[in-house]
Amino acid sequence: MPDVAADNGLACPRCGAVHGADVRFCVSCGMPLVRADTGDEAAPDEATARARKVKPQYLGGELVKAAWARNLAEAQLIQGILLEEGIPSVERRARGFDVPDFLAGGPRDILVPQAARDAARELLANSGGGVADDPAPSKVAEPPLRFLAKFAAVMVGAAALVWVLYQLAN
Ligand SMILES: [Zn+2]
Repeated sequence: MPDVAADNGLACPRCGAVHGADVRFCVSCGMPLVRADTGDEAAPDEATARARKVKPQYLGGELVKAAWARNLAEAQLIQGILLEEGIPSVERRARGFDVPDFLAGGPRDILVPQAARDAARELLANSGGGVADDPAPSKVAEPPLRFLAKFAAVMVGAAALVWVLYQLAN
């Protein structure tokens, strides 16, 4: 790890940018920050405690996709599992699902540094859950089509009923 000299500061493990202690993620690349001064034991807050769990061997390289989550809660669960093993991660909305930002729903990609990808995938494969690769596109597309077919059938039925009633009334 690069030896960044900054008192009580946090450093980006990827690009080396130094941030204040109240910043959790690198402003330029989004990586969770780690403490720049590794020897200090004074009053670690939650962010610091989390950063300290990160193992140096899992830092480095581009952010790559390691897992997939159905929603934000599941993404955070996966991130917790990864962090327990010292793997830093970032969650992002999966491409192609433009849900408004204030909604917690919507699939997420879990990104980790290149150096941690194999370890992350192995860890998540062992822990089970919906953390494999993307769902097949057909699974995503199927329900709306089935709904449309049902809706069309109902409309045809309603039209027929209206026609019958109309005939009876005359
Ligand atoms: Zn950075």
